[in-house]
Amino acid sequence: MSDLSRFAINQITTRDWTLRQAVDGYARRGVAGIGVWTQYVDDAGLAPAARLIRDAGLFVPCLCTSAWVNMTDPALLAAAIDENRRRIDMAAAIGARCLVVVPGSLAPGERDLSAARARVEDAIAAILPHADAAGVVIGLEPLHPMFAGDRSCLNTFAQCLALSDRLGPGTGLVADVYHCWWDPDFADGLRQAGPDRILTFHLSDWLVPTRDLYQDRGMVGDGVIDIAFHRGVLDEIGYDGPFEIELFSRLDWWLRDGDETVQVCAERCAPYVGSRRSGGVMAAVP
Ligand code: ZN
Repeated sequence: MSDLSRFAINQITTRDWTLRQAVDGYARRGVAGIGVWTQYVDDAGLAPAARLIRDAGLFVPCLCTSAWVNMTDPALLAAAIDENRRRIDMAAAIGARCLVVVPGSLAPGERDLSAARARVEDAIAAILPHADAAGVVIGLEPLHPMFAGDRSCLNTFAQCLALSDRLGPGTGLVADVYHCWWDPDFADGLRQAGPDRILTFHLSDWLVPTRDLYQDRGMVGDGVIDIAFHRGVLDEIGYDGPFEIELFSRLDWWLRDGDETVQVCAERCAPYVGSRRSGGVMAAVP
C-alpha cells in the first residue's frame, strides 16, 4: 500500500472538476491533500468550501494564487493589494498553510523589469502584516523564466530566497520542480532554504518537446526531470512537508476523465512522496 500521507493534488490538475468533485475524487483514492485555487472557492462559497475540505479530512498545502500587482496606477494597485488581503483570509478559512504569490510582471507598456520586481516586493511587504495576523505564510514561488513577461517576475529560486530573507518571517518558498529543474543552483537553493522554509514541493515533468507555453506540463515520469534526484536532496536536508502534483495540461490530462487522472497521479507519484522513514525511493536506498 502506498504512503500518500504527504501527497496532495493541486486541483488545477483536474481543471474541470468542481471543488466538491475534486475533494471527493482525491479522498476516494487515498490522496491526503488538495492544493486549492481561489476561483473554485468563490464558486462554492467560502464557508461551504471550508466545511467540505475539513469534513473530508484533507490537508491544504496552499491556496493558488495571489492577485497580480502588475499595475502602476496607485488606485488600481491599492485595489489589487486589498484583493490579496481577501485571498489571505480565504486561505485562513480553508486551512491553507500558505498563499502562493504569482504577482504578474510588467505593467502594460512597461519595460523596466527591476521596477516590476521592486513593486512586487513592496506589495508583499504591504500584505505581510495581514498574513501574519491570519496565520497564513506568504509562499514565494519562482516561475520559469518563460513567464517573466507576464505571469511572474519572480523567476529563480535564489531570487525568491533572497526576497524571503529581506521580507523576513512569515514568508517561505514554494518549490516547483517544473519551474526550477533547469536551474544549476536549484539544489543548493533547497539546501540553503532548509526544510522549514520550503512550504510545499510541486511535482510534474518537463516534456520534450513542450507544445504549449502555459499548459503542457507532463505527468511525473513522462518527461526529462530527475524527480528521484530532487527527492534525494529534500531527504538530505530533512524536508518533511507536502508533495503536490500540479498539471496544466490542455492537450492531455485535462481531456481525460478526472478519476483516471487522479489514479495515474497517485501511481506515478507514489515512489517519490512517501515518508522519510517508511521509504520514499531514496530512503529505501542504503
Ligand atoms: Zn507550482
